[in-house]
Amino acid sequence: MSTTLDYVKTILEQMVAIDSQSSKDSHEEITQYMTSLLKNDLGLIVEVVPYSKNPHKHNIIAYKKLGFKVVLCGHLDTVDIGSGWTKEPLKCTTEVVDDKTYIYGRGTSDMKGGNAVIIATLKRLIEDSNNIDDIAIFFSTEEEIGVRGCQDFMVSHKYFFESVETFVVLEPTNLYIGSGQNGHYWVKYTCHGKSANIIEAHTGVNAIEGMTDLNCVLKESITAPDLNGYVTLNIGTIEGGEKVNIVPDLCVETVYYQFGPNVFGKDLEEIIKQTIDQMNEISYAQYEYEFVRNYLQLNVDQQTSY
Ligand SMILES: [Zn+2]
Repeated sequence: MSTTLDYVKTILEQMVAIDSQSSKDSHEEITQYMTSLLKNDLGLIVEVVPYSKNPHKHNIIAYKKLGFKVVLCGHLDTVDIGSGWTKEPLKCTTEVVDDKTYIYGRGTSDMKGGNAVIIATLKRLIEDSNNIDDIAIFFSTEEEIGVRGCQDFMVSHKYFFESVETFVVLEPTNLYIGSGQNGHYWVKYTCHGKSANIIEAHTGVNAIEGMTDLNCVLKESITAPDLNGYVTLNIGTIEGGEKVNIVPDLCVETVYYQFGPNVFGKDLEEIIKQTIDQMNEISYAQYEYEFVRNYLQLNVDQQTSY
């Protein structure tokens, strides 16, 4: 009989050979493959829930018995293959360097490797006659493009998780156990100025200069004591102006905030609001902000019995 590690390698090779890049329209093949493992190798009850915006992609929940308390979580999609590969992306290629074995292939790390470990762990527990009634497996879709599959499942099938005390996510973390998750905010800032021709520039309000002033204040604002020093900010896009001899009346930018598990999203929101209110009081330019996307941070109770 093969060892657990051999089994992990075998099913990982089969998973990697199935193309489940996020940009593909259909993930039927990976769903079918994972469903057959869950049913045939683990003997679990498997429910395949189509993603509401694309019935060819699916979330999968598998369990022995309802009322489970622990969920092992993975996702079925991978990031796109992209360019620059020196190995075949849809194949596991093994290399040994300095006594360490590396396996190359799209998703080996994020996170078909984790998915294979989830299946192999349950298989081993069953072979060793452990009771797995408390454990379920959840595989989501569309994770790489905004955790959409999981959110979709939580809207329609949240009741599955009412009994759950612990979720274990097998994302790659360099073999460290992560007890939290960073939060992310995506904020759009708009600066309104007043247009003027260059010959009467003094009558205008330059929106790009206004945005530059705001950016200096935004950088300063994330050092606020309430934020505990765990916020990073990236000004990702900026647009403004039409002609070199016209004072621009509009400038729009998008800013990405990432913050650690110890930062409260509401503190960050309050600081953003205060910053804009303050700028509107002292500036000729006027500012607005809008939260495009929010993911709150997660902090885990480290005293859990699991
Ligand atoms: Zn991942």
